[in-house]
Amino acid sequence: MAKKWNLIVDIERCDNCRSCYIAVKDEHAGNDFPGYAAAQPAQGHHWLDIRRKERGAYPLVEANFQPVMCKHCDDAPCMKAARDGAVQKRVDGIVIIDPVKAKGQKQIVDACPYGAVWWNEETQIPQHWIFDAHLLDSGWDKVRAEQACPTNVFRTIRLEDAEMQRLAEQEGLEVERPELGTRPRVYYKNLHLMTQCFVGGTVVHRVGGVEECAPGAHVVLRQAGREVARATTDTFGEFKIDRLPPGSGRYELEASGPSGRATTAFDLGTESPYLGVLTLS
Ligand code: SF4
Ligand code: SF4
Repeated sequence: MAKKWNLIVDIERCDNCRSCYIAVKDEHAGNDFPGYAAAQPAQGHHWLDIRRKERGAYPLVEANFQPVMCKHCDDAPCMKAARDGAVQKRVDGIVIIDPVKAKGQKQIVDACPYGAVWWNEETQIPQHWIFDAHLLDSGWDKVRAEQACPTNVFRTIRLEDAEMQRLAEQEGLEVERPELGTRPRVYYKNLHLMTQCFVGGTVVHRVGGVEECAPGAHVVLRQAGREVARATTDTFGEFKIDRLPPGSGRYELEASGPSGRATTAFDLGTESPYLGVLTLS
């Protein structure tokens, strides 16, 4: 079995410095790589971009950042939409939109369900992030985004498909929108930071008549009486339970400690709720 390129992207490590974005611009804006990609226009194209997602409610709010780019799908809709073999899958897994054959084929832009193809109005060609195939072919072992990233968000990795599947299972890697059946070669770690909800709150108790944070309290989350997750409050009495599917309905929450217990319930919509202060008694 041939070893193929994959990219692993750890969303938890990204702080939106945009060095990777600039590296891709630097590589492609104004630079032609015949057989791989025509020059990227100076404005308007974001072959690698950073998507932002805010979760939570005051005072428990966080912002997460997801680098997004062409996923180099194994079952690529862009290939099916292309005429005259304008989009090709290489044996190493990389998808290339031929800058000559694809001229005038705007349907390739519309076919990508990830919005990863950009239309060059001036040259009339569809363009995407080429997985730095021109660099890998000349001996590089990582993409420029990985080289530029100060927080090690990216891992460029060449493995047989079965090995990659094992790694994905071991590390809990996910692909974006697997229900599409496109079989992307870009894998995300901590994708839940963009796609799932959390619930948070603060647990307090009374000590000598004074309200104090309750560290070490047990928090149990249930749905229809069945436990779905549990957590322990931190030094500030705060807890957070993550990876809850948006719109998953009614939950009951119970906090308990040496000073007593507190219960509450909530309906989970599309936002991550902060349940406020729960007082053990
Ligand atoms: S992400 Fe879009 S452009 Fe890239 S291979 Fe998949 S369908 Fe094609
Ligand atoms: S260089 Fe790294 S940390 Fe900066 S935006 Fe890109 S992925 Fe995120």
